[in-house]
Amino acid sequence: MPKIKADLHMHSTYSDGLNTVEEMIHSALEKGLKAISITDHNTFKGSKKAIEYVKDKGIELVVLYGNEVRARYSGKLMDILVLCPQVLDDDNYPIDAVKLYEWTRKNNCLYIPAHPYDERRYGCGELIYDLDMDAIEGWNARAPRKVNERAIATAKTLGKPIVSNSDAHEVEMVAAAHNIIEVEELDPYSVIDSILKGKVKIVRGTIPPSIYARYVSKKLVKKTVRHMFFK
Ligand SMILES: [Zn+2]
Repeated sequence: MPKIKADLHMHSTYSDGLNTVEEMIHSALEKGLKAISITDHNTFKGSKKAIEYVKDKGIELVVLYGNEVRARYSGKLMDILVLCPQVLDDDNYPIDAVKLYEWTRKNNCLYIPAHPYDERRYGCGELIYDLDMDAIEGWNARAPRKVNERAIATAKTLGKPIVSNSDAHEVEMVAAAHNIIEVEELDPYSVIDSILKGKVKIVRGTIPPSIYARYVSKKLVKKTVRHMFFK
């Protein structure tokens, strides 16, 4: 069975990423990834575009239909990675965390709390014990080490598969952390099935400070320009 390199959490210009879907795909290919998802905030549009692009260009890359949904649960907002094997009805999904979970059951999608203990970035925190889920993002390249280690420990306690992702917001960050997944076939169903079965080895990594600093300054320039012209 082939083992593939996968990074299943990244952002494009469809939300707060700095690079286009096409640029993120080419970076993924350069880094040897065989499976990705573009998980823009509260929209599947980036991943839909990515699926169309690889199909059009005949690129061998598995793209999961994904979204980092800011869901609501007992008065709290939390980020949930939703990863699906096929394109669905664009952005027609519930944001209530429990209803969203049911929606993922109906559509064979994965429901994964993102950086659960990074509460500055909408991690679900202790509510993780209340939620049903398929796996836990135990390692996120943008989260502090301690926060990640706690997520891994919780996943082990709960007996849940662990995934590790870059949460890249620009091309250089792609695959900073990733997974090695043992798959039957190079297709989205197989990737999802292997995650559910825990056939995943996580490869931890962090965003190098120089790349992060460059991202922050580029983002600031973008914000300033927007402010100047579109005020
Ligand atoms: Zn993210």
